[in-house]
Amino acid sequence: MQGARGRAWRPGLDEAMRDLYQDMILSHNKSPRNKRVLEGADRMQEGFNPLCGDRLTLFLKLDGERIADIAFTGHGCAIDTASASMMTEAVKGKTVPEALAMYEHFHHLVLRDAPADTKALGKLAAFSGVGEFPARVKCATLPWHTLRATLRDEKRPVSTE
Ligand code: ZN
Repeated sequence: MQGARGRAWRPGLDEAMRDLYQDMILSHNKSPRNKRVLEGADRMQEGFNPLCGDRLTLFLKLDGERIADIAFTGHGCAIDTASASMMTEAVKGKTVPEALAMYEHFHHLVLRDAPADTKALGKLAAFSGVGEFPARVKCATLPWHTLRATLRDEKRPVSTE
């Protein structure tokens, strides 16, 4: 996991958070949660990040407004895989509006365009570190773009470009 720009870590970002970020990426990349084909999925959506080559397919099972089950397959870099793994863990059992709100929080966190609700994000807050590496931001956000398209039932492939 190398930073593309080699910029210094944001001053003030707790070093423990940086360690946590790296540990989580490594752990989730090594054994991704919910990485499987979801049989009987209500919705299926493909996502592609041409910048890195990450590809994923997201599967969703809905129970009314609630995400009853979610899974993904694909080939991505460590950040993409870890992000998809942690995202599926985070939104399983949530309602569609809750998951869409989480999408917004996650985007503010990694794009740093607005204050992010880190409390709502929980463990995902560790992804704030990816904002230091602009080239990798799309790796982290691809699963979330794909999720939003799935929740909106857009039915066309998502591309980060
Ligand atoms: Zn990637």
